[in-house]
Amino acid sequence: MNATVGVLALQGAFYEHIQLLKQAAATWSSGSQWEFIEVRTPQELERCDALVLPGGESTTMSLVAARSNILEPLRDFVKVHRKPTWGTCAGLILLAESANRTKKGGQELIGGLDVRVNRNHFGRQTESFQAPLDLPFLTSSEEPQSPPFPAVFIRAPIVEKILPHHDGIQTEEIGRDETVVAPSKVAKDAAARDAMANDVEVLATLPGRAARLAASNGAHINPEKEAGDIVAVRQGNVFGTSFHPELTGDARIHSWWLRQVEESVKRRHEIEKR
Ligand code: GLN
Repeated sequence: MNATVGVLALQGAFYEHIQLLKQAAATWSSGSQWEFIEVRTPQELERCDALVLPGGESTTMSLVAARSNILEPLRDFVKVHRKPTWGTCAGLILLAESANRTKKGGQELIGGLDVRVNRNHFGRQTESFQAPLDLPFLTSSEEPQSPPFPAVFIRAPIVEKILPHHDGIQTEEIGRDETVVAPSKVAKDAAARDAMANDVEVLATLPGRAARLAASNGAHINPEKEAGDIVAVRQGNVFGTSFHPELTGDARIHSWWLRQVEESVKRRHEIEKR
């Protein structure tokens, strides 16, 4: 299989993603030929079978995207064609159907994940931290014991709510203050519908914050019972992480994602042949 994977390169940590994607592809002998490209124009996006939206600043990214006339093509890529897309941090914000702490007119979303994200969730005092994260999706028969992932959180969002799926816009989100909602776009062809899923899967949570807050108020929370903040989700072939796997030397998530992309591209080819 030949596949071109783009990384949106308008702002943020795009270079780091390309390096880790190359590293992941080099250590995996699937027989597929990968090309990794920086994407700044609709023409470059057109060449891509899959896309990464990096971390950075989601407001800036969406403004530059709108000015570069690539915002609508990005929405088509994710929501109409439903090609595999992965957003990290600011990229996750752009992929959310609804985002909190966002001034109207200041930020536009791409959408694709039926979730509401809370921007800058961890606040200013802990703007940046690293936490060892259990990522059960990295565990496989070849890798039965995957050590915790060194997750870097920088003014990170979390998924605060999983929204019910419907094809239109998330209308119940529209009336909320400081909340921006993505415009509606519907998956059209058979391959796109096949790559869509109604349910959002929670792939990872970060426990501990509720317990720490409770402790600072003199209360006690049983950490076993704490659900934790949602920091990785997937809906069909759209994937989002709150943290920045591109800022560690660890290519495990990139390897996992390239496997998902390979399956998805093969499936699309099969459906298109029918
Ligand atoms: N807080 C940033 C935003 O709103 C995201 C931060 C990041 O990508 N590290 O876009």
